[in-house]
Amino acid sequence: MEQKRTEIAQLGEFGLIDRISSKFPLQQPSSLKGIGDDAAVIDAGEDVLLLSTDMLIEGIHFDLSYMPLQHLGYKAVAVNVSDIAAMNGKPEQIVIGLAISNRFSVEAVDALYAGIKAACDNYKVDLVGGDTTASPSGLVISISVLGRTKKGNEVYRSGAQDKDIICVTGDLGGAYIGLQILEREKAVYLTNPEMQPELDNHEYAVGRQLKPEARMDIIYELADLNIKPTAMIDVSDGLASELFHISKSSGVGVRIFEDKIPIDENAYNTAVEFNLDPFTCALNGGEDYELLFTIKQSDFEKIKNHSDIHFIGYVHPDAKQNVMITKGENVVPLKAQGWEHF
Ligand code: ADP
Ligand code: MG
Repeated sequence: MEQKRTEIAQLGEFGLIDRISSKFPLQQPSSLKGIGDDAAVIDAGEDVLLLSTDMLIEGIHFDLSYMPLQHLGYKAVAVNVSDIAAMNGKPEQIVIGLAISNRFSVEAVDALYAGIKAACDNYKVDLVGGDTTASPSGLVISISVLGRTKKGNEVYRSGAQDKDIICVTGDLGGAYIGLQILEREKAVYLTNPEMQPELDNHEYAVGRQLKPEARMDIIYELADLNIKPTAMIDVSDGLASELFHISKSSGVGVRIFEDKIPIDENAYNTAVEFNLDPFTCALNGGEDYELLFTIKQSDFEKIKNHSDIHFIGYVHPDAKQNVMITKGENVVPLKAQGWEHF
C-alpha cells in the first residue's frame, strides 16, 4: 500500500504546530496554558511559572562567517528571555542543549559561553543545567528558560479587547535589514576574498541582527507604572505576523497606521540604499525582539510620553479585519509572511 506523504511546507510552521497541539489535550491541572503563547504557564501557588524553549541552528538561524560566537551565545539567551518578557514575567533559570562538531575548539566553546554568561549576568538568569552531544557538522544551541510572575500578572496573546491601544517598543525592521547587509557582504567576500566588508554607516542595523536585547526594561517600567497590558507578544517573526497572532488568539481585529510604525532613521537609510522598502522590512522582517502589546485606553495617559513606546493603532471587534492605513490614507489588508524555513 502506498504511504501518504504530505510536505511540511504545505502546512507551514504554524499549521504544523496546530496539528501537534490538537493531539495533546492538557492532563495536569497545573498546566494553566499549553501550546499557543510565548511561554507555557504553570501553576505554582501564589505564582505562575513560565516555560519556553528556542533553538538556534547553524545554517538556518545563524551563519558563523559573520556571527561571532560570543554574540551568538548572547542572542540565544536573549531570544528566550524575550518570550518570558512577552508573558510579563521575569526570567530566572535556563538550561542549554548543545550539539557541537569537532570543527569547533575548546576556545570556540569558551567564546560561545562568554556570550551566554554576559546575557545571564545582564538578565540575572542562572544557568542550571543542559546537555552536550556531538553533532555531525553544525552547531545547534537549544535553550529552555523558566520564568515567574505573580498569578494573575501573566499576560497572554488572547486578552486584547475592543478599543485597546496597540503599542510597540523600540524600532522595527533593523534586524532584517542588518541580515541583508551581512548576507551581501558575505557574497562579495566569497567571490573576492580581498574585499573588506563595508559595514560603515550600517552599524545600527547590523547590531540589531547580531546583538538583540530582550526588553525586560519595559516589563519593569510597566510594572512601576502599574500597567498590565491586556495582550502581549514579542516580535520575533515580524510585526504583521505577531498582530495576526494577537488577532487570532483574542478574537479581535487590528487597525494600524503605517506612519506610526517605528523605524530607526539609520536603518531606514540603509534599507533604501539596499533597495528594500523599510516598511516591508518592519512588517515582515523579524528578529527585532521588541514587545508588541495592547493597553486599555485608561492606561494611555501614564505612558503617552514614553520615548521608547510607540502607539501604532487600535483594536476593533471584527477579527476578520486586520488592516493598515497607509500614508496615502488607503486601507489595505495586513499580510503576514513571517519566517518560512521549510
Ligand atoms: P515563539 O515565536 O514565541 O517562540 P513559536 O511560534 O515558536 O513561539 O511557537 C508557538 C507555540 O507553539 C508555543 O506555545 C510553542 O511552545 C509551541 N510549539 C512550537 N513548536 C512546537 C513543537 N514542535 N511541539 C510542541 N509545541 C510547539
Ligand atoms: Mg515569542
